[in-house]
Amino acid sequence: MRSLADLIADGVQSTRVLVRADLNVPLDTSTGDSIITDDGRIAASLPTLRALIGGGARVIVVAHLGRPENRREPSLSLAPVAARLAELLGQHVRLSTDVAGPDSRAQAESLTDGDVLLLENVRFEPAETSKDPELRGAFADQLAALAAAYVDDAFGAVHRRHASVYDVALRLPHAAGDLVRTEVEVLDRLTGDPARPYVVVLGGSKVSDKLPVIEALLPRVDRLLIGGGMCFTFLAAQGHDVGGSLLEEDQVETCRGLLDEAGDRIVLPVDIVVADALVADAQLKVVSAEQIPGDRKGLDIGPHTVAAFTEHLKEAKTVFWNGPMGVFELAPFAAGTRGIAQAVADVEGLSVVGGGDSAAAVRQLGLDESAYSHISTGGGASLEYLEGKQLPGLAVLDEASS
Ligand code: ADP
Ligand code: MG
Repeated sequence: MRSLADLIADGVQSTRVLVRADLNVPLDTSTGDSIITDDGRIAASLPTLRALIGGGARVIVVAHLGRPENRREPSLSLAPVAARLAELLGQHVRLSTDVAGPDSRAQAESLTDGDVLLLENVRFEPAETSKDPELRGAFADQLAALAAAYVDDAFGAVHRRHASVYDVALRLPHAAGDLVRTEVEVLDRLTGDPARPYVVVLGGSKVSDKLPVIEALLPRVDRLLIGGGMCFTFLAAQGHDVGGSLLEEDQVETCRGLLDEAGDRIVLPVDIVVADALVADAQLKVVSAEQIPGDRKGLDIGPHTVAAFTEHLKEAKTVFWNGPMGVFELAPFAAGTRGIAQAVADVEGLSVVGGGDSAAAVRQLGLDESAYSHISTGGGASLEYLEGKQLPGLAVLDEASS
């Protein structure tokens, strides 16, 4: 894989370089404006952009925001992202009104050395995510025509066979950005020969999303601690009633099989914070995980679970954590995630946090980010990498430049 440093050493002065960045930040649209609630991904993209700017390149950034249903949605314009990127870079960032059309071409041509142009949300173009290679290819041709080189710095998207991630790399000399390289290096330490005990903490909402990674990790880990919304399908598999908590009925059998296979390596919560509704002023109660009342929802792990998980994490030499332990976005249900985030921060060894919401939780709950060895910007991508899957966006970077 060619590195950004190699590309810059070969000379990028006055060269238009297309950079795929992951600027998919969470937005609060409740006030009618789109307010960025966590700019971690924008901040993470800065080193690669600064290196290119420093090398005198003319930088064109391509990125997506949210999931527009294949059409322009004003609330998913990259305008607020361009503004925040400009603030963080300390220089003007232009924004094109189309993705790779006439305005993008005109703006790209008028760039001078060190300028930055952000293309409008790439997912406004249906071809970006199309399953049809010809449609994607035609769009990738347009993107490739904007620049003379391509840098992929969007680790969070490398598991997607999308035009701006995959097809464009086939069409331009390419290199991996610093973010992609760092992510791969850290994840390789987890898939290689991790120092033991190796403890993985998984949470988040959907167990079906995470079953493949659980299956792949189970033979390799010493403990798998499960919290968040996904723990209830496991509790149900043990025969417990989970009340109104998240439950994926069709996954109960699979979870039962995993529990049988894992023995005591899978650790489930012993207590749960329940409420009658998912509201900020909910009436809370902590109950045994085996006795969730029928009319209550489990919305966080309880204090005894935090203590038990913390004991396992204290012994760990390698930790990977993905998925909040509860609905941390609401203060009453944030304690479990805060407790685990703290315990992972205290790990003496390699501590890796993966997942968009998990990374956002670390920052929102005011934890010291530098206490972790690495905070991955890519949720799905890091999970698929740990599953041992080949990721299209990485495989294409390994191929020789055209
Ligand atoms: P990540 O982005 O870190 O991979 P996920 O997207 O899998 O994490 O899950 C994050 C979401 O899971 C959060 O929005 C959180 O509110 C939700 N969640 C966690 N615990 C629960 C629960 N007990 N019930 C419902 N949702 C939950
Ligand atoms: Mg998420």
